[in-house]
Amino acid sequence: MDYYSTRGIDKLYTAAEVIMTGLAPDGGLFIPAGPWPPVPLKDLAGMSYTALAAAIIHPFLKQFSKAEVESLVQEAYGGTSFDHPDIAPLHRLTDSLYFLELWHGPTCAFKDLALQFLPHLLRKSAEKTGEETTAVILTATSGDTGKAALEGFSDVPGTKVIVFYPLEGVSEIQRRQMITQKGKNVHVVAVRGNFDHTQAGVKELLAEGSLKHKMSSRGLKFSSANSINWGRLLPQMVYYFSAYLDLRRSGELKPGEKVNFVVPTGNFGNILAGFYASRMGLPVHRLICAANRNHVLTDFFREGRYNRNRPFFRTLSPSMDILVSSNLERLLFELGGRDPSRIRAWMNRLLENGSYRLNAALQKTLTALFWSHYATDDETLAAIGKTYREHRYLLDPHTAVARAVYEKYRAATGDRVKTIIVSTASPFKFAESVAHALLPPEQFAGRTALEIAPLLAKTTGLDLPTPLLDLASQPVRHDTVIERSAMRTEVLDHLNL
Ligand SMILES: *Cc1c(COP(=O)(O)O)cnc(C)c1O
Repeated sequence: MDYYSTRGIDKLYTAAEVIMTGLAPDGGLFIPAGPWPPVPLKDLAGMSYTALAAAIIHPFLKQFSKAEVESLVQEAYGGTSFDHPDIAPLHRLTDSLYFLELWHGPTCAFKDLALQFLPHLLRKSAEKTGEETTAVILTATSGDTGKAALEGFSDVPGTKVIVFYPLEGVSEIQRRQMITQKGKNVHVVAVRGNFDHTQAGVKELLAEGSLKHKMSSRGLKFSSANSINWGRLLPQMVYYFSAYLDLRRSGELKPGEKVNFVVPTGNFGNILAGFYASRMGLPVHRLICAANRNHVLTDFFREGRYNRNRPFFRTLSPSMDILVSSNLERLLFELGGRDPSRIRAWMNRLLENGSYRLNAALQKTLTALFWSHYATDDETLAAIGKTYREHRYLLDPHTAVARAVYEKYRAATGDRVKTIIVSTASPFKFAESVAHALLPPEQFAGRTALEIAPLLAKTTGLDLPTPLLDLASQPVRHDTVIERSAMRTEVLDHLNL
């Protein structure tokens, strides 16, 4: 299968080029040029997670042999990085409601499912394109992605990672996770200021021609690990299939019976993979897009107008605090008739006016499959409390948003189709918020998140995930703090340029 850009379908790219490049040269997103490969569900029954991953991913990687893909997924999911043998286990809450736990990886959040795989795919893609370069991942992070990228790329040959994080603007647990990172090829630096400063600094460096030039003379090349990279979407399709197959295996779904998925959404990457799975033949009834107070997507699905001109709020579900959901462009391309001129028009309007509008026909197509609503912080905390009291099951704030939105969905539609809520983070990673929902304030007042997590484990009788348990005792390996103006020198020094 070859690929083209959502903004121009004349030029074709190989899978390896797409993985190496990240964003298409015309500013669009890469997308398969051919029809979606159908996946015969009956052939997948009884497969292990790694076998399933290879079966689903291989048709998208034409120049890779099946054995090569199998070895890539083995490196990602076959070792000891995931603390559950099923990789993405399903937790049954009631007869018709399930949680798909995507937080058994090394950073306790769903980005591990993609970022444990992408580095190996990137290394192999470089081999395929015949480039003798070292891929340099340069990124600014406000939390989950940076740590998941560090874990994924750590000690992967042919790659280097430089992560800048804002001194103000990551949680204590997230900071601790980053400064204790192991690996000979990783470099973590704190920048004085907030996330916007840090991100602006990284963007300048990535755009600088003379830096690229210097790097290429030393066999170095920037690559991207962010969620618009096609290589992050591929592994995310797998768990939609595994969840469905688990319910078929247990007899809880009849052949052909459809399911709903509820997905806590930010950049629209996770839910888009669910949409692709449905295109490949997974029996999906509705995809429910759950948002927080930054509900630009909910308004979009309800009104047919994307409008980013609105205040930005910090919420208890920070990974969903986003006003421009980049991956939505891929959905519009697919459902809007694969017409790049329409995409260009919408994206130009988004750039110029901060908004664009769909026609009524397209909006109808969208809402036949998608449904969306949002939850406030209060509703999020209430969902954590209620789920724990009624079922002794603990939710992180992102997953709790999805749970609250699902209640709204049921009330609004009366739909009783079996439903899988995609659980994107371990509750212990957001211990402070979860404690607020469960415990009287005097029990944790004045304590840090690193102290609250074990307290929460003790109160609930649940096990603290090993990566978080080890955090307090890990030595600090990265203690550099710099000014925003020193980011360039830091990169040059680190790469010996
Ligand atoms: C990144 C993230 C999300 C949002 O996923 P998108 O693919 O950006 O929509 C939700 N929850 C958690 C915990 C995340 O880390």
